[in-house]
Amino acid sequence: MNGSNGNHNSDQGVPFLDLVTPHQELEGELVAIFRTALSTAGFIGGPMLEGFEKAFSGFCGAAHCVGVGSGTDALRFALMAAGVQAGDAVVTVPNTFIATGEAISQSGALPEFVDVDERTYNMDPAKLQEYLETVCDPDPESGRRISRRSGRPVTAVVPVHLYGQMADMDAIAEMAERYHLLVIEDACQAHGAQYFSRKDQRWKKAGTIGQAAAFSFYPGKNLGACGEAGAVTTQDGEIAKKVRMLRDHGQVEKYYHDMEGYNGRLDAIQSGILSLKLKYLDGWNSQRRECAAQYEQLLAPIADTLVLPFEPSWSRAVYHLYVVRTQERDALRAHLGARNIGTGIHYPIPLHLQKAYDKLGYAEGCFPVTEKVSREIVSLPMYPQLRLDQQQKVVETISQLVGSKLSAALTS
Ligand SMILES: *Cc1c(COP(=O)(O)O)cnc(C)c1O
Repeated sequence: MNGSNGNHNSDQGVPFLDLVTPHQELEGELVAIFRTALSTAGFIGGPMLEGFEKAFSGFCGAAHCVGVGSGTDALRFALMAAGVQAGDAVVTVPNTFIATGEAISQSGALPEFVDVDERTYNMDPAKLQEYLETVCDPDPESGRRISRRSGRPVTAVVPVHLYGQMADMDAIAEMAERYHLLVIEDACQAHGAQYFSRKDQRWKKAGTIGQAAAFSFYPGKNLGACGEAGAVTTQDGEIAKKVRMLRDHGQVEKYYHDMEGYNGRLDAIQSGILSLKLKYLDGWNSQRRECAAQYEQLLAPIADTLVLPFEPSWSRAVYHLYVVRTQERDALRAHLGARNIGTGIHYPIPLHLQKAYDKLGYAEGCFPVTEKVSREIVSLPMYPQLRLDQQQKVVETISQLVGSKLSAALTS
């Protein structure tokens, strides 16, 4: 990954991601934050952490935000604090980063999967319904469903807002209500993404819909720290309180441990850096949306050979990634790579086919949509500072492969 993070001032190629430029632009302010932290030596907790938590809950429109060590911590703590217990089953999608599965397992539950929608790549609510109604049996006592795969009660659903676009939350929330499931949003790629709830007739931001949501501030995310960081948002004060305990060894006050917890705190320097960058997030997200619109326009002439991202009318995506699809994916990547244009695959191996999840007993063919798209997806360069000439270069290079006669149309 380091190789593709470099500066872009040559017209040689286009990096997949440029993390250097935004940090150079903010260098003076970033150094000032470090100096402030040094002057007090308040490295853990304190006003920088509290300031960021307040600012980020405000940004999302959530009542509470609790800063933690990573997005994986955030997911694990959110599940545990919301009430997922050892012996439960938690349903999510196989088209995600492994942290979603790890957090479910580490909360003591077993991950089970449902397939995604072929156009949005996010959880297909119809598949969730099919799973709950045909793979599970009713538990008359709790009103919940018992998975026939594992014999476990299904207590939570984790929709992943992948690539910066929210899952269809009305439909998922309706299923969750019917079968008494907790909803924990994996919002690790969706800072600022919005969803129009047809039910409530208003736009809602990622991190405000489920019982709790997890954000990652890994450097390459839309809001990234200069190191590891994450946060849980929730409307529920009790959940927020439990996450605060879980991140700090189960303490209610110093050396009074009501339960065992973790060392999962967000440090002060990262908090200060995140507060600074948060001021730019709306602008950066707008730039990402502009880049996406530009790609759509540039790629229009070859849109019959590539499947472009689909943004339903109820979605305002923040394009953490710009993902297109083609059956010639590997040839396309090789062609772009040979011309120094960086690409990625998010993700090449669905979770149910990972070695780590052999034990879950899924096989090839279980989730045909996820499996098909995993062979066809490719992520093109996408970041706020991506320039029009760079996007033109990416599209020209793609169109060379598609057919030279199209190049003229693309550059005109
Ligand atoms: C990045 C990411 C995570 C994990 O976040 P970390 O901060 O790396 O622990 C979880 N889920 C998804 C979908 C992610 O993209």
